[in-house]
Amino acid sequence: MDKSIRDKYTAVIGLEVHAQLLTTTKIYNSDSAEYGSQPNTNVSVITLGHPGTLPKLNKKVVEYAIKMGLACQCEISREQIFDRKNYFYPDLPKGYQLTQDRTPICKNGFVRVFPRTGEPRDIHLNRIHIEEDAGKSIHLTEETDTLVDFNRAGVPLIEIVTEPDIRTSDEAHSFLTEVRRLVRYLDICDGNMEEGSLRCDANISIMPKGSKTLGKKVEVKNMNSIRNVQRAIDHEIERQILAVEGGEEIFSETRTFDANTGTTSGMRTKEELNDYRYFPDPDLSPLHVTEEWLKAIEESMPSLPHELFNKYVKEFNLPEYDAQVLTDTKEIALYFEDLCTRTANFKAASNWIMGPVKSYLNEHNLQIDNLPLSTERLAELIRLVDDNKVSFSVASQNLFPEMLKQNGMTALETAEAFNLLQDDDSDAISVLVDEVVAEFPDKAAAYKKGHKGLLGMFMGELMKRSKGKIDPKMANELLRSKLR
Ligand code: ADP
Ligand code: MG
Repeated sequence: MDKSIRDKYTAVIGLEVHAQLLTTTKIYNSDSAEYGSQPNTNVSVITLGHPGTLPKLNKKVVEYAIKMGLACQCEISREQIFDRKNYFYPDLPKGYQLTQDRTPICKNGFVRVFPRTGEPRDIHLNRIHIEEDAGKSIHLTEETDTLVDFNRAGVPLIEIVTEPDIRTSDEAHSFLTEVRRLVRYLDICDGNMEEGSLRCDANISIMPKGSKTLGKKVEVKNMNSIRNVQRAIDHEIERQILAVEGGEEIFSETRTFDANTGTTSGMRTKEELNDYRYFPDPDLSPLHVTEEWLKAIEESMPSLPHELFNKYVKEFNLPEYDAQVLTDTKEIALYFEDLCTRTANFKAASNWIMGPVKSYLNEHNLQIDNLPLSTERLAELIRLVDDNKVSFSVASQNLFPEMLKQNGMTALETAEAFNLLQDDDSDAISVLVDEVVAEFPDKAAAYKKGHKGLLGMFMGELMKRSKGKIDPKMANELLRSKLR
């Protein structure tokens, strides 16, 4: 699209994110909430909504929702009721969904985003509420009928609803990345969008630049990755601008995204929408969150990515880039945290993780949990380098691969066994220095004339000849005094 046309408009985006909670059992009964069971096996009479059955709230669901609320600085509602959202659909056994309409468990709050383009910004939340998932309709090409699996009916969800605060698809991308990181740190949802445990609907409108009145919003569904949410938003903004430029009016509707074409198409208009007739569910008693309970949940909160980030930058004096890589996933952060209880050389610990460890993991397509090297043994390697027993390059290129084979030896024993210990015998190093200097007489002369940059070339030669096994500091000193 022509930039001059694009620049006439501001896009406004609000997201509704559903996260499936990692509880063992369902939200209102003790059926297993496990994913991937045989169809229709986790379906007691309560899940199926038989007459006379009564739901009972799962305490863990409340705790998980509150944790997410606290992580997003929300106000936690102390008195809540549950509402029935009434509609008919074959995968909704009760004929209504139990949700929270007027008393969401969390209100307000925000998530800080770090878009690739533009500044970090706080995206405000309208609410986080608890609700149950519906069953799953399965349309198989070899079957004429639609099949229904009720295993998912009653699996707990939280729905995170943002204010219409987002302005670019980049910000939406970052918002979802942050939400996914938070639910994973909190261990309340696996954050997998491809499998549908994290789902996102995007509401999108446009308005003339500078306007204060929001345009009519279009809701887009069926994006199964963060990347696809971004693509859907980009496409929808362009579609709306072209429509308005062509003299059309945007009307509220629900559209579906097609990942193959990268386009959206209409599903239903607002007029066709259900009136859900929300009313308080008479079967569930109001929920009261006591002071003690809230406090206990607060105390059980793990460290969050931004807290660890600040700690690494302020207390560990690490560059922001390091802190960002180290907090990217909870698993890496936990490994680093543990490593830092075993060494005080935080920068070396960070370098090891960002360098050799990450390369190894990428190469073998492994997560850090499966790294065959404990933090204890990595700390031994760091110590060997700190004590000048081996150089970092020997430690990372020779020792590290040996230790990954889990040979049962300490780092020092491995270095000894493979004859990798650094030579800090100054006589031996002196001999090497003499050799190298004698071999390049013109370079030595140039150095004496002021070409100090040649020192690196001499050091390189020394390291090559000693296979990296000499103490670089000592070699450097001897070399300089020799060249003087
Ligand atoms: P509805 O009444 O259709 O349910 P809500 O006001 O509850 O709409 O908002 C649903 C979502 O749509 C929220 O994420 C909100 O931020 C977003 N939203 C509301 N108005 C707009 C708009 N004009 N443009 C884009 N998003 C919007
Ligand atoms: Mg709404």
